Amino acid sequence: MDSSIVLFGPPGAGKGTQAGRIVETTGKPQVSTGDMLRAAVAEGTELGKIAKVHMESGGLVPDEVIIGLIKERIKDSDAEGGLLFDGFPRTIPQAEALEKIAPVSMVIAIYVNDESVVERICGRFTCAACGEVYHDVFRPCLVESVCDSCGSSDFTRRADDSEETVRARLSAYHEQTSPLESWYDAKGLLHRIDGNHGIDDVALSIANLFV
Ligand code: AMP
Repeated sequence: MDSSIVLFGPPGAGKGTQAGRIVETTGKPQVSTGDMLRAAVAEGTELGKIAKVHMESGGLVPDEVIIGLIKERIKDSDAEGGLLFDGFPRTIPQAEALEKIAPVSMVIAIYVNDESVVERICGRFTCAACGEVYHDVFRPCLVESVCDSCGSSDFTRRADDSEETVRARLSAYHEQTSPLESWYDAKGLLHRIDGNHGIDDVALSIANLFV
């Protein structure tokens, strides 16, 4: 398996948005553990039932569940050229498990301050038809309630995007995920990106890592 890339940062840092651009640059498929878990919750699988409780409270899903998911995902044929991990690993045990099963060549850490995270996430909504992401203040639809990309009027808001849950997700990030920063830095893999700018500026800083 070729080397993979890890996208790291607090919730609302823009990992999902930037992942789309990095996929275009590198051709590595995006693997979002958050998206995989939300799909399992929507399908009502056993995994979904376990994940739902943790996700609703803003806490992390247990390591063994997440590591099991990733072990299955890297068996797919499209993982051969390496993957772009978005939202994984989120703990040191997850990073240690990843190290044993897939080589990582780069960790892109996007930083955004806590108050911006709350502001960004609480206004966030998504087109249910095409997945385009909007924001009440920063990125409204050009025509109210009509998706700019596909014309649909069917939008969703994530159940865990309330202010209370966002603050719990931030605590989980600071307590359990941020220690990964020095862990990856010590391996010489960490690249820090200031995410407190517009989408295109952040994308440019990330693109510069690949030249
Ligand atoms: P995200 O879409 O990345 O913000 O993830 C949404 C939620 O899914 C998180 O708040 C966690 O409850 C759960 N989750 C996603 N990825 C992981 C992970 N790598 N480890 C533990 N929990 C995760």
